Amino acid sequence: AKEIGRNNLQLFDVEMALKAHEKLRRHEELRDAIARGEFVLHYQPQMNLKTQRIFAAESLLRWQHPQRGMVLPGEFIPLAEETGLIVPIGDWVLNEACRQNKAWQDAGLPSIVVSVNVSARQFKERNWVSRVAEALEVSGLEARYLELEVTESLIMQDVVTAVATMHELEALGVHLAIDDFGTGYSSLSALKSFPVRRLKIDRSFVQDIPDDADDMAITGAIISLAQKLQMQVIAEGVETQAQVDFLAASGCDDIQGYFISRPVGAAAFVALLAG
Ligand code: C2E
Ligand code: CA
Ligand code: CA
Ligand code: CA
Repeated sequence: AKEIGRNNLQLFDVEMALKAHEKLRRHEELRDAIARGEFVLHYQPQMNLKTQRIFAAESLLRWQHPQRGMVLPGEFIPLAEETGLIVPIGDWVLNEACRQNKAWQDAGLPSIVVSVNVSARQFKERNWVSRVAEALEVSGLEARYLELEVTESLIMQDVVTAVATMHELEALGVHLAIDDFGTGYSSLSALKSFPVRRLKIDRSFVQDIPDDADDMAITGAIISLAQKLQMQVIAEGVETQAQVDFLAASGCDDIQGYFISRPVGAAAFVALLAG
């Protein structure tokens, strides 16, 4: 029994070493991906329910890996967060989204807002607001065409500092949205003090409409809350006509989801915007 125990221990050590090595390799790959130009942004349109027009898009990061093909953020953002690489990667995303949006405007396409997802690590960087100002300056994009998406949990980590930072961003003219709204723990009284333009209703509340009465009640409540706080409200993950009908009847402003389009590359997005 002693013998087996020792063998198991050795096998465990080998496995641990292999895992650590694999993680180090992934870290190096991710670190080099920016310099190698392997990141690309996809864009998912957002449509206003009244005008039926695309007025904005969310930028979503993809990694074109030389061997693994198109890698989705769920597979590398956690490691990027853990290692801090999310800061330079996030800077790349911010600059690329501003550059692309300005290029679309210069090409004569209808002006839209492009939103960028911001991680807590990025948001907490000392010079975060000046990095945003610099991305706008370098690209020549007007601030009102940039929206930053933050989560409730990011804000709640340190409400006082987060609200101060949000006010500085607002002073630049940038818009703020709360992403995945309803899944975090922001108190309603705190919400009132956030300088945010819109709430994004999390997909988990939208996906089971019209079959789940609780989800419909929650979605309806978030929409009226947004209206009372004079915020815009958008539903994420909208896939069906029945969901669109319920959201329109409930007074939701905007929708985003496969019902309109999946996230697509810049060239395909231009076709959506022009068409
Ligand atoms: P998110 O910000 O909540 O983005 C929405 C996700 O839902 C996207 O997944 C999008 O492709 C997906 N989605 C949109 N419409 C539908 C729909 O109708 N049905 C379903 N089933 N899914 C839909 P994606 O692109 O895999 O991104 C996952 C998450 O990764 C994002 O969630 C966001 O938290 C993070 N992420 C993406 N890009 C960035 C980035 O540039 N920076 C940071 N920090 N995080 C990012
Ligand atoms: Ca988002
Ligand atoms: Ca979201
Ligand atoms: Ca549900």
